[in-house]
Amino acid sequence: MSSAQPSPDRTYDVAILGSGLGGSMLGAVLARHGARVLLLDAESHPRFAHGEVPTPRSMVALRVVAERYGVPELKTLTSFENLTRILGPQFGIQRHWGFLRHREGERQDPREVTQSVTPALMHTAAHLYRQETDSHVYHTAVRYGCTPRQGFRVTELELAGDGVTVAGQDGSEYRARYLVDASGRKSPVADKLGLRDGPSPLKHRSRMAASHLIGVRPTDGVLAARSPRDVPPVPWHQGSVHHLFDGGWIWVTPFDNTPRSRNPLCSVGLMLDPQRHPDAAGSGADEVGTVAARFPDIGRQLDGAAAFREWEVVAAVPYASSQLVGDRWCLLGESAGFVDPLFSRSLSDTTEAVNALAWRLLRAIADDDFSADRFDYLQRLQRGFLSFDDDLVRSAYAAFDDYDLWNAVFRIWAWGSGGGSFRLQSALTKFLADGREEHFTALEDVPHVGFCWPDHDGFKALFDGLVARAEAHRAGTLTGREAARDLFAMLEEADFVPKHLGFAERDERFLNPTPKKIIRSLRWARTGADPQVRRLLMGNVQHAVGSRLRGRRIF
Ligand SMILES: Cc1cc2nc3c(=O)[nH]c(=O)nc-3n(C[C@H](O)[C@H](O)[C@H](O)COP(=O)(O)OP(=O)(O)OC[C@H]3O[C@@H](n4cnc5c(N)ncnc54)[C@H](O)[C@@H]3O)c2cc1C
Repeated sequence: MSSAQPSPDRTYDVAILGSGLGGSMLGAVLARHGARVLLLDAESHPRFAHGEVPTPRSMVALRVVAERYGVPELKTLTSFENLTRILGPQFGIQRHWGFLRHREGERQDPREVTQSVTPALMHTAAHLYRQETDSHVYHTAVRYGCTPRQGFRVTELELAGDGVTVAGQDGSEYRARYLVDASGRKSPVADKLGLRDGPSPLKHRSRMAASHLIGVRPTDGVLAARSPRDVPPVPWHQGSVHHLFDGGWIWVTPFDNTPRSRNPLCSVGLMLDPQRHPDAAGSGADEVGTVAARFPDIGRQLDGAAAFREWEVVAAVPYASSQLVGDRWCLLGESAGFVDPLFSRSLSDTTEAVNALAWRLLRAIADDDFSADRFDYLQRLQRGFLSFDDDLVRSAYAAFDDYDLWNAVFRIWAWGSGGGSFRLQSALTKFLADGREEHFTALEDVPHVGFCWPDHDGFKALFDGLVARAEAHRAGTLTGREAARDLFAMLEEADFVPKHLGFAERDERFLNPTPKKIIRSLRWARTGADPQVRRLLMGNVQHAVGSRLRGRRIF
């Protein structure tokens, strides 16, 4: 396998704009299967990127792409252990997802917290230090034969019926049979075709200030003393902390939270709803400083911390492109759109889009047919992701002013992610047993494309119920308590929401699936669960336990 110098005399099968995780992952897969791929990027690796918090869903999706397309290097990203062993001591540990609600001028109330703990059956995930992970996937793509070109800024694009031409600032020009734009917010294809010109289809609005800091204090140390029952099963510092408050939130994602890391940095970012917080404070540091001054424990955590890189400020975070595929081109991942980093869904969305795009592109190359209708599913999938992310995030922001409602949002998010991830893992397990592609193609045949759990009508109805109540709360026609009461009644009644694991039990602030709770839940599933949940829970948990007993982990 070798990559040539980029050549204007050659026609590539696929040109990919953007060698971030999305573009490089796709490039690696296509090149691994013999496609001639040109991988272009305006910058050079290693370079900074957002997207440091993985989810169980993104870990399963990465394993799916790794196994389905034979690119095992992608599995490096799926555990803290692998990342640290292979790429070095640069990564933080992620043992939980934590949310702490704050009230202005007050110490954080120990009762107004929620935490979702990574079960011992799963690999421990890492806070992804993106300059390392992205370089790794980029180098993998080049090793499999992608032709790289870094420091290439696109100045002109031609999307013609017989091929695509990409021209750069240095006067070089390259031709390809198909163009994938994985460059993100500033997508040249979206720009050229005016795909962001109309009103945004997204309802959510937010602005952002983010940086990497040195000297951020561990969360546990800045909170007021708590009684044993208010102490979470995993220290806050050992995972991804989300400080929530009326109209916004702050993430604290440490890379320095394990003795095995030598990275002193901590990622910190602030998101604000401009309707609740109309006055921007100017610089990113001022914006964060203003919020830190209003919430004492957040202030304590950031007191004395210094920004290691410039604060990045984005005035309008959400955006969406009106068309995502065309003849000979498509938009991938954040070129298609982005909602908000809350719940960190983009990496799984992008990876699942790569999974759906790669086999279609390989077939299109073989058939020499790159018409848009062959890629229609990719458009529906990414639109579905954006629409779900929009509804979920908007509902969550509406709940930030009321702990009861937030508590319901948290559980519905957590179990929706769980059900969707189990479904993906079941297909992967079957594929690993018999190598048949159809387990993955069957995943596409669903009623709610792009929804977190796309083939469960009951869960979809529960989620729609959440969105409606969150909107009513936002409009002032329902109190948070009333909305939460309805949602908990639905959660308790649903035979597709597992019992005993905390998803349906509103007083369990900490979702901590201990072996005892898992056994109780499996007993319930045998007789009380709807058939799909019974299959998903029993199949995956039994497989995970069996693997663990043999010293392996499947998740
Ligand atoms: C503030 C923030 C926080 C986030 N947090 C999370 C999170 O916690 N978890 C999660 O899953 N996702 C998160 N995301 C989303 C995450 O950043 C993306 O899903 C992830 O980076 C996917 O990688 P990508 O390859 O699509 O984009 P990127 O990593 O952004 O790569 C795009 C590449 O395109 C290149 N490029 C840009 N313009 C051009 C051009 N004109 N020509 C050529 N190349 C170009 C860039 O140099 C870059 O290398 C977050 C996003 C934001 C904005």
